[in-house]
Amino acid sequence: MTCYKGKYHDELIANAAYIGTPGKGILAADESTGTIGKRLASINVENVEGNRRALRELLFCTPGALQYLSGVILFEETLYQKTASGKPFVDVMKEGGVLPGIKVDKGTVVLTGTDGETTTQGLDGLGERCAKYYAAGARFAKWRAVLKIGPTEPSELAIHENAYGLARYAMICQENGLVPIVEPEILVDGPHDIEKCAYVTERVLAACYKALNDHHVLLEGTLLKPNMVTPGSEAKKVSPEVVAEYTVRTLQRTVPAAVPAIVFLSGGQSEEEATLNLNAMNKLKGKKPWNLSFSFGRALQQSTLKAWSGKEENVVKARGAFLVRCKANSEATLGTYKGDAKLGEGAAESLHVKDYKY
Ligand code: 13P
Repeated sequence: MTCYKGKYHDELIANAAYIGTPGKGILAADESTGTIGKRLASINVENVEGNRRALRELLFCTPGALQYLSGVILFEETLYQKTASGKPFVDVMKEGGVLPGIKVDKGTVVLTGTDGETTTQGLDGLGERCAKYYAAGARFAKWRAVLKIGPTEPSELAIHENAYGLARYAMICQENGLVPIVEPEILVDGPHDIEKCAYVTERVLAACYKALNDHHVLLEGTLLKPNMVTPGSEAKKVSPEVVAEYTVRTLQRTVPAAVPAIVFLSGGQSEEEATLNLNAMNKLKGKKPWNLSFSFGRALQQSTLKAWSGKEENVVKARGAFLVRCKANSEATLGTYKGDAKLGEGAAESLHVKDYKY
């Protein structure tokens, strides 16, 4: 058998390529109700639907921001929400040339017999959910698999289980018209050096592409969302140029040229660090058959969240902060970022949280 040739074949390829347009990237605003609650708690805002909606409206309706984005990942609740004046968020995005995406995984559970390694749930009923989300306007999806680096981790079991889960999810998405973002996140937690991160990332990505091939996934209609290759959170930092070299080398060794774009997660890096690392990768000379862009959550929202603090009178200031980050990351996808966004409030702050749950 060959890879997916069904009715969404051409549309999947076109949408994946569009999301990877140079100069544009993805805003990950798909925090589950529990996770967004932690963000809101950090600014003393209550986790109720109205406040979650207000934060998302602040982001999506920032004048000028959507030109820097090609996609926004939403949590199910947000897919059906509207602006205060009654316009569906999905329409706001369509008008801004941005594709709505949807988080479809149902979080992680521990793999028994491992030292806290996990697998991601959500395959049951996934086809029906994808069809429903497509009907509501979603055109791509996200599924986050989580691996960790430890003395004997990631185990073969965790690598295999997560790769096959991602591949099965990817096929189900394609059958229902959604471009799957394949996200095998290797957590930054730990004292390991960058060599170790590179080695583990290579092994994990190689396993993922074997699984995607086994499942007949159409690679041209997918996107990869990996971690950048960096030293662990308890090790000494290295320069963006070193991160860029290791990351691009790892991707060259494992990601087929058929994949249109690689959209990195920020994984607890500060806003500025994530932008500088992406910029360095795009400045690096060498073989890069895919576009290298962003799908940042924390690194696109932190300074905005702080500036907002849940107060209506701060919306303009908060939107200013969001626009600064969107523009900086857009430039980073072209390798033209000059470092002028680093003075923003909170831009240099580490956003690392141990064992982060999305
Ligand atoms: P961060 O950029 O905050 O790591 O999150 C991106 C994301 O969507 C993780 O699944």
